[in-house]
Amino acid sequence: MSFIAHGLQCTNDECALIDNHVFYRKHEGPPACPDCDSPRKIYWGHGQFPGVSGDGLGTFVPVDMGVLGKCETREEYNRAVGVIKKRFPGHSVVVEGDNATKREALADEHRQRSHDRLRGHGLTKKMHTEIKEMRKVQRAVAKKEALRHNKDPAKSKIKAESPVKTAGLSS
Ligand SMILES: [Zn+2]
Repeated sequence: MSFIAHGLQCTNDECALIDNHVFYRKHEGPPACPDCDSPRKIYWGHGQFPGVSGDGLGTFVPVDMGVLGKCETREEYNRAVGVIKKRFPGHSVVVEGDNATKREALADEHRQRSHDRLRGHGLTKKMHTEIKEMRKVQRAVAKKEALRHNKDPAKSKIKAESPVKTAGLSS
């Protein structure tokens, strides 16, 4: 939804009112003549190019201008930029573009990351449990072995590194 500015002329020959600068919503078309309510056509007599300005309602993405506050409208934004330009002559303001596509991409990325993280945790937890179980068995074996050799089972150590089961990662 965007706005456009045109010169308009009333199509009613008796009225023929000319307005050099009418600001209207592009998709709604030129508004009717304020005098006689007849349709109006675009008028080029003023010799200017049509001006498009404004973003329409709801299309301006709020910009956080830091100490100047959050700008909810293009007008506020322009005012803030004006202040910055006055304070920092010769500098230009660059706002990193933010649009729906980019936001969606970021959201997707975030979802993917948390999914991966959760899955990662799941695997780690499962493997952790398995390793703990294995250690328990190994310790028990070591104690038994120590007793068999008349040694203090508390000081028994897991001897050889038993092969750790390789976890098969399936997706
Ligand atoms: Zn008219």
